[in-house]
Amino acid sequence: MKRRDVLVGAAVGAGAVACSKPQEVAVATSTPAADPIEWKMVTTWPPNFPGLGTGASGLAERIGQMSGGRLTVKVYGAGELVPALEVFDAVSTGTAQMGHGGAYYWKGKAEASQFFSAVPFGFNAQEMNAWLYHGGGVELWRELYAPFNLVPFPGGNSGVQMGGWFNREINSVADLQGLKMRIPGLGGEVLTRVGGASVNIPGGELFTAMQQGTIDATEWVGPYNDLAFGLYRVAKYCYYPGWHEPGTTLEAIVNKAALEALPADLQAIVDAACRATNEDMLAEFTAQNQIALTTLIEKHNVQLRPFPDDVLRALKKASAEVLAEIAERDPFSRRVYESFSSFRDRVSAWHEVSERAFYAARSLDP
Ligand code: CA
Repeated sequence: MKRRDVLVGAAVGAGAVACSKPQEVAVATSTPAADPIEWKMVTTWPPNFPGLGTGASGLAERIGQMSGGRLTVKVYGAGELVPALEVFDAVSTGTAQMGHGGAYYWKGKAEASQFFSAVPFGFNAQEMNAWLYHGGGVELWRELYAPFNLVPFPGGNSGVQMGGWFNREINSVADLQGLKMRIPGLGGEVLTRVGGASVNIPGGELFTAMQQGTIDATEWVGPYNDLAFGLYRVAKYCYYPGWHEPGTTLEAIVNKAALEALPADLQAIVDAACRATNEDMLAEFTAQNQIALTTLIEKHNVQLRPFPDDVLRALKKASAEVLAEIAERDPFSRRVYESFSSFRDRVSAWHEVSERAFYAARSLDP
C-alpha cells in the first residue's frame, strides 16, 4: 500500500480499524495506524470455477480496488475454509465476514430464502433485478436474514438456466417418476410433487454422483458452467429450458456487525461492488453460453432436447401448488410470495408487449 493511501485510510477508517485490530494499532506506531481491514469470503463454489467462483473473486477484487486497499477480501472456495453448505453459518457466526452462494441453499434456515434465488416459472434476470432493487425484494430479504446477523446483497445472476443433464429421455410426465435428480430449492420440491426424488448436493460432487449412478439426472447452471464441469461425459441428454431457475440471483452475504463496523464510504463500496458483480456475471454468462453450447453439440455430440409441453405444463401446475403451500405454512414466505406475485403480474403484462413481443418480432422471417 502506498503511503498516501495509508494516510487517507487512517483519516477515514481509523475507527473501524481500531475496532477490528486493536492489538496491531497499539504496537504499529505512535500516530493512528491504517492497517487495511482484512475480510474472509467463503463461497459455495469450487475455487475459481468459471462464472460463479470467478464472480466471487471478481467481487473481492473490486472491493480491494475501489477502496484503494483499505478493505481487502480473501476468497476461499468450497471446502477450503468451510464446506459449501456451511457458508451461511460461517458468516452468521463471524468465522468469515462475507460469503458468496445462492439463497436457496438455506431453505432449512429460513424457508422464504428460496424466493431470493429462483422461483420456478418466476422471474428472469431482468425481472429479478427489478423486483429486488425497485420492488421491495431486497428489503424483505434483509428483514429475513437480520435474525441471523446477516446482510444480503444481490451478487450475480446466471440468466435462464438449462433444464439439466439426464440419463433417461423425458418424453412424458411418466418419465419423471422415480427420477433421482440433483435439483435444489423450489425446483426440487416441484420435481418431488410430480413423482421424482430431489436431492441437494454441492456442485463439486455432481460429476462423481452422476458417474456412479447415485443420481439419474442433475441440473447445474448452463452450457458455460456445465461444459467446464464435464457433465456431458456422464449424461446422455441435455434438456431445456431451465423452468426451475429462470434467472437465478446469486447472493453476497455480509456479517452484519462486520458491515456496520465499516466507515460509511466502505459500506457504500461493498454495496457498489456487489451491484457491479451482479451485472457483470450476467453479462459473462450471456456472452459465453452459446459459445459453450456450440462446443457441447459440435465437439462432444451432446443431444439437446426440449422438455415436451405436457411436462412443462405439469411442472408449472405443481409449481403454483408448491408456492401456495409454502405461503400457507410459513408467515414470512406469505409476505414474500405476495410481493413476488403482484410484481410478477405487473411485470409479465409489461413484458408481453415489450420483451416477448420483441423476441417474436426478431424471429420473423424478413
Ligand atoms: Ca441451477
